Amino acid sequence: MIPEGLPALEAWLAADLVRLDLPRKPWVVPHRHDGIDVLNVVVVGAGMAGLAVAATLELAGVPTTLFDQSPEGYEGPWATTARMETLRSPKTLAGPALGLPALTFRAWFEAQYGAAEWEALGLIPRLQWMDYLRWYRRVLALDVRNGHRVRQILPQADGPVMLAIAGPGSVFTVRARRVVVATGRDGLGAAWMPDVARSIPPEQRAHSSDPMDYGRLRGLRVAVVGGGASAMDVAATALEAGAASVDLLIRRPDLPRINKGKGAGNPGFVLGFYHLPDHWKWRIRHYIGWSQTPPPHGSTLRVSRHPNAHFNLGCTIERITVADAGEQAGGGRRPVLEVETTTGRFDLDFILFSTGFQIDWARRPEFATFADRVLAWRDRFTPPADQHDQEMLDSPYLGPGFEFIEKEPGACPGLERIHCFCYPATMSHGTVSGDIPAISEGAERLARAIISRLYHEDVEAQFAAIRAYADPELIGDEWRPALPPDLRRDDDNGDRGDAD
Ligand SMILES: Cc1cc2nc3c(=O)[nH]c(=O)nc-3n(C[C@H](O)[C@H](O)[C@H](O)COP(=O)(O)OP(=O)(O)OC[C@H]3O[C@@H](n4cnc5c(N)ncnc54)[C@H](O)[C@@H]3O)c2cc1C
Repeated sequence: MIPEGLPALEAWLAADLVRLDLPRKPWVVPHRHDGIDVLNVVVVGAGMAGLAVAATLELAGVPTTLFDQSPEGYEGPWATTARMETLRSPKTLAGPALGLPALTFRAWFEAQYGAAEWEALGLIPRLQWMDYLRWYRRVLALDVRNGHRVRQILPQADGPVMLAIAGPGSVFTVRARRVVVATGRDGLGAAWMPDVARSIPPEQRAHSSDPMDYGRLRGLRVAVVGGGASAMDVAATALEAGAASVDLLIRRPDLPRINKGKGAGNPGFVLGFYHLPDHWKWRIRHYIGWSQTPPPHGSTLRVSRHPNAHFNLGCTIERITVADAGEQAGGGRRPVLEVETTTGRFDLDFILFSTGFQIDWARRPEFATFADRVLAWRDRFTPPADQHDQEMLDSPYLGPGFEFIEKEPGACPGLERIHCFCYPATMSHGTVSGDIPAISEGAERLARAIISRLYHEDVEAQFAAIRAYADPELIGDEWRPALPPDLRRDDDNGDRGDAD
């Protein structure tokens, strides 16, 4: 039976949680440091990954605090910088539902629109996914502090990690026994553009992940560098905003057709990847990366239906010259970007780079105190000559609980209290720290590791609690001690009692 309306769904979820005896009672021993309360777990970033791990911890009785720099309801890319019409992921995936049917997107959708609409739904509209995440956070009553940017994370030798946080109107510090870095696709770095982009005036270029009003492209000759999903999204958005033309400059001679990452995703891959030897992890991730992910079918059609969209394949930029075009109609001067490529010259007004992200600690000041102490894949593994990949080499080499590991043992005590649950964890743990398909499995793996370590650290206090525990199950009047057999009479049951 499908509950009708969100209040009915929420009642259903609440009843399921009662049946599962969730959430568990808080059990973690409170800690203080220098006279100040220490938080159990701080999650940096309240996107889908941060919410999923916080929910798992809360259900297990571990109070958890999330900080996100975004305004409430605008975490992650969905309602900010993403420009696709729908998600790529199939609607049937359970995503961050943590094994609870009432917490799925499907339950949320059907409760509001019914089963027939669900059947009719193709892919999930992007903004609807954001609405679902907003509901997820609300219905689980997660403790998210929006408008709070974590400025610095400082591991400490003598205990909890210190965090400096800029909130509305104040900067303050907190201490946390565990920190989860759930900072997203560019979580340990930023957007990447090729060097050639530097020669372009900043007002004539952007990265596909930059917030931008695409209305400013009306009437302009635009190029999009790249041929992936985001390239299609920004090309379509530019065309819909009235760009005079959009040229996609795609280095590859053909667009990839097969999504190998999707093909890899079975339960064995999700659960077994972490335990593979390094050379297998490398081989699989390198192959998936090298094969490249095709842009979604619908996103490609959204571009190609415009007669002024041009797919230039085998087209590598060689040189960009900024030439003065003189006065523009309506006033002002806009230089022309003369772009020499392997397939010819393009005269352009604006270039959008859809060239992905890179791990670049230098662009993330919040990690500056420990960035150069973190063990990376390049410190542990030398790939075969034909399998080089800089992004993979730069990825952190993580422990079984997603924790960072010191490059030199002893050089950064406390680092192991910081857990990396953003995209760069993929090299060590597989695709469980960002994308929708296996986010619940990733969150559960991480939460289990944190829970186990919190318990280990507190074993003395936990043992004292066991000793102090005094909730009687027997009161003492449920039985009477027996008399020795030779003192018993035939007509009594032999118990020591008050009968005599
Ligand atoms: C355009 C786009 C489309 C995608 N489409 C799909 C798809 O269809 N299917 C799929 O499975 N995956 C998709 N992904 C990949 C992935 O699902 C998303 O990137 C998703 O947002 C990952 O969730 P997250 O919680 O890891 O990161 P995010 O949602 O990016 O959340 C990270 C949060 O961390 C916050 N933050 C970062 N640094 C700090 C700091 N110092 N202090 C405080 N807050 C901070 C940010 O404000 C942000 O809200 C897409 C990604 C992009 C970029």
